[in-house]
Amino acid sequence: MRVISDADLRGLAADLLAAGSTVWGPARVPGSPRPGVEYRPLREAAELDLGAGLPFLPLKQVFLPPTEPLFWWERKGTEVRLVPPAPPNRRVVVIGARPCDAAGADAMDRVMGWDYRDELWFARRDAATVVTVACERPADEACFCSDVGLGPSHPRGSDLLLIPHPGGYAVEEVTAKGRELVAAFPHRFREDEQVTPGETAAAGPPRIDLAGVQRWLADHFEDETWNEVALRCHGCGACASVCPACHCFDIVDEPDSLLAGTRRRNWDSCQTSRFTVHASGHNPREGQHARVRQRVVHKFQVFPRRFGRLLCTGCGRCTRACPAGQDLFEILTLVSERALETS
Ligand code: SF4
Ligand code: SF4
Repeated sequence: MRVISDADLRGLAADLLAAGSTVWGPARVPGSPRPGVEYRPLREAAELDLGAGLPFLPLKQVFLPPTEPLFWWERKGTEVRLVPPAPPNRRVVVIGARPCDAAGADAMDRVMGWDYRDELWFARRDAATVVTVACERPADEACFCSDVGLGPSHPRGSDLLLIPHPGGYAVEEVTAKGRELVAAFPHRFREDEQVTPGETAAAGPPRIDLAGVQRWLADHFEDETWNEVALRCHGCGACASVCPACHCFDIVDEPDSLLAGTRRRNWDSCQTSRFTVHASGHNPREGQHARVRQRVVHKFQVFPRRFGRLLCTGCGRCTRACPAGQDLFEILTLVSERALETS
């Protein structure tokens, strides 16, 4: 099997930077109040830190920045000129994505190319090669990727999947982009007959009955359970911001003057009270129970029915980030139990 050593992986990052590519990877953020790493564009290969667990913010920021201009506008007399943002013109390589994050971007591909093709998203997706590092163990007890049909070495959304073994990684070429990256830097990879694809991190058996959860969600849109689980939630939206698969954004016009301005999109969340307020003042999701229900039903029933996969990769970030201690896996366990009671 093809392998890459720790030193050569760092060397690959250095080669890519020297060739003018933008290289993202987990790195420490100097002065950050948070411990651990974040996905960042690396200035040098030495910044790459693959040993510090899951970054606080998800990989989606590479393809959908928290805020970005859609276009600039300028009025001259009766004419309005629109200036679109420049397309990404450099190769981007992510080194050290986590499998749950790569799978989140893959889920977002479905919706970004559905009834409207989001060209900004796909320009960045097309320009990027995602090199994922499989997890040797769960980051902490909040992880539940194996319960949602994925796992610590699941290849979905990756171009190359690196599976740790002593001194380096076994390399699984998942897509043509991954093969191209290997072919472009052959001196960084070598064949090792001793390493077999079987030596991968194993996914544990699922602890919840997903089919039962989906059945129960379809039949219990109005149910007291939603009031129970919403008691904890105060609608801050942190869970959506850190989620690798949540994709809602708001579009605003920011005037610079009467004659020019920027149309911009910003990450948004269905958990905030004003998200669905109509211009009339009517809010079809009045209570927090309706917003919490929306989050769970969309991720586990509506999205999979339309796109054939869950809108949750079990990364556990929403649980870690929630200031109120809401725990998505607890909610799924509760729903799974209620599904069993009513089956
Ligand atoms: S982070 Fe917690 S409190 Fe905030 S909206 Fe999400 S579940 Fe509710
Ligand atoms: S819903 Fe929570 S556990 Fe699932 S992908 Fe989003 S942040 Fe991760």
